[in-house]
Amino acid sequence: MKSSSKLTQSVHAGSPGDPLYGGVVNPIYLSSAYDYEETVRYPRYYNTPNQLAVAEKITALENGEDGLVFSSGMAAIMTSLFAMVKMGDHIIFQNDLYGGTHHAALHELNRYGITYTMVDATDPSNFEKAIRKETKVIYIETPSNPLLKITDIKKVAAIAKKHKLVTIIDNTFASPVNQNPIDLGIDIVTHSGTKYIGGHSDLCCGLMVSSKKLTNKIKASAMHFGGSLDAQTCYLVERSLKTIVLRVNQQNSNAMTIARFLETESKVGKVFYPGLKTHPLHSIAKKQMPGGFGGMLSFEVKGSPDKFMKKLKYIKRAVSLGGVESTINSPMRTSHSKLTAEERKAVGISDKLVRFSVGIEDPTDLINDIKQAL
Ligand SMILES: *Cc1c(COP(=O)(O)O)cnc(C)c1O
Repeated sequence: MKSSSKLTQSVHAGSPGDPLYGGVVNPIYLSSAYDYEETVRYPRYYNTPNQLAVAEKITALENGEDGLVFSSGMAAIMTSLFAMVKMGDHIIFQNDLYGGTHHAALHELNRYGITYTMVDATDPSNFEKAIRKETKVIYIETPSNPLLKITDIKKVAAIAKKHKLVTIIDNTFASPVNQNPIDLGIDIVTHSGTKYIGGHSDLCCGLMVSSKKLTNKIKASAMHFGGSLDAQTCYLVERSLKTIVLRVNQQNSNAMTIARFLETESKVGKVFYPGLKTHPLHSIAKKQMPGGFGGMLSFEVKGSPDKFMKKLKYIKRAVSLGGVESTINSPMRTSHSKLTAEERKAVGISDKLVRFSVGIEDPTDLINDIKQAL
C-alpha cells in the first residue's frame, strides 16, 4: 500500500519506527562499524540506517527511484555534477544561479578541463542554441535567487532529451512540496536541505533524487568525495521532513498574502513573486508548481533598505532561508556583494532590493511588522 499523498508520505516513507521495542520513531543508529556478512555498511557508503531513512523519504516526496543525503547542499550539487562529466565535456548553466554554485562553476570547472556556457533561462531556446558536440549536462534552478525568475522545466527537459543530455535542477527554493521536476522530465533533482527541508535554521545538509541508475553512478563518486551526513543530523532531517507539507503550505499562503499587500504599498517599488499575476512567467509557474508558489519573495524599498530592515521586530536579518521564522536580507550586502553596482544593475538587482524568506507566523503580524518598519 503506497500512498500518493505527500501528507502521508512525508510522515511514513522511510520511517517504520523501532523494530526492537516497537517505538513509533526510527532509532538513531550511531555505529560507524557494521558486520559485513550481508552488506558492507559504512557512513561514507551512504547506506547506514538513518541515511537510508532520509533518502527513502525524499525519494518518495520527489517521485524518484532512489536518492542520497549529503552533508551540505553544495556537496549534493557538486557531487551530482562531477559524477556526470569528465575532462573535455561541456555544461550549460542558466545564468541566474545560487551564488555558491556560480562561484563553484567559475573556480572549479575549467581547471579540470570542463567548459561551460551560462545562458538566459527565461527563453528555453537559449539552451538549445548553446549545445555543442561536447555538451553533457544542462543545469537549471527555478525559482531563482533573488529575483524569483522562472525557467520552463518541461521545455528544457524536452530539449535535453532530444540531444541526449543529462538534466540537473536545484529545487531548493520550490521545495518538494511545490514542484517535482522528475514528473516534468528532469533527470536529477538536488536540494540544499539546509533550507526548507531542515526548515528550522538549525542544520546543514543536501539531497539528490534520480533514477536508480543515475543515483548509483552519483553514489560511486560520492564515496570518493566523501560528503556524507552523520546519523544524528540525518535523524533531524527525517524529523523535519515529517512536517514539511504543513510548513511549506503555510509559507506559500503567507507569501501570497504578503506579496499582494506589498503590491498595494506606496513605499514599496517592484515586487517579485511567481504567484503574482504581474510576474512575467506566472502562467508557467502555475503549471509547474502545482503545490504552490513558495515562501520566497523579494521587493524594492523606496527609502533606505537598511533602515527598514533594522526596524523590523519579528522578521530577522539573516543570510539563509526556508526556516519557520521569517528572515530578510539585502542581496547587495550578502549573496551579490562581490558584484559591482553596475554588474548588479545589469542582472536586475537594485540596491533597494530586499529578499524575504516568509516564515509560518501569523501573516497579519508580519504585515503589521512591515507596515511599521516602512
Ligand atoms: C543554500 C543554497 C545552496 C547551497 O546549500 P548549502 O546547504 O549551503 O551547501 C544551493 N542552492 C540554493 C538555491 C541555496 O539556497
